[in-house]
Amino acid sequence: MFSSKGSSGRLHVQPGCKYGLFVPFVQHSGINYLCTMTNEERLRNHGLRVTDTRMAVLDLLQRSSKALSQADVERALPEQADRVTLFRVLQAFEENGLAHRVQDTKGVARYASCAPGCSTHKHHDVHAHFRCTDCGDVYCLESVLLPKVSIPKGFTLKESHLQLEGSCKACA
Ligand SMILES: [Zn+2]
Ligand SMILES: [Zn+2]
Ligand SMILES: [Zn+2]
Repeated sequence: MFSSKGSSGRLHVQPGCKYGLFVPFVQHSGINYLCTMTNEERLRNHGLRVTDTRMAVLDLLQRSSKALSQADVERALPEQADRVTLFRVLQAFEENGLAHRVQDTKGVARYASCAPGCSTHKHHDVHAHFRCTDCGDVYCLESVLLPKVSIPKGFTLKESHLQLEGSCKACA
């Protein structure tokens, strides 16, 4: 288990947390987040009951370097889960700020785990997504932040996405 000293004393970082020790994560306060919660705590904090399938899917998303489709999740789970259950788990994760959805080049939904700052109906995934046109994989580019845009008067911005396309490291 990683550990780090913070202002509140000794903090433990969950092994396998995709974000490692510090998340470069931009919010109005400009602070970095530390991933200190267990997956059980994360589920509860996001208003979800702890179930084996939810735990397994959350773990999988956090360990994955790329966004996963429902079929990817289905294949990677140690025990078979039925499709309807999996669909609901992914949907609940998206609704509750545990995962965000990105479409791949074929229009199939892929899911990636969220930074700790996301909450129910409020996503702050301000990074670009890279879609590989060769293998179809989708990556979160956490170091590439969305540019600030100013939109004309009278428009209300609710979401912005930055999709980049090209060849991924494995295909280039
Ligand atoms: Zn999110
Ligand atoms: Zn590729
Ligand atoms: Zn992402």
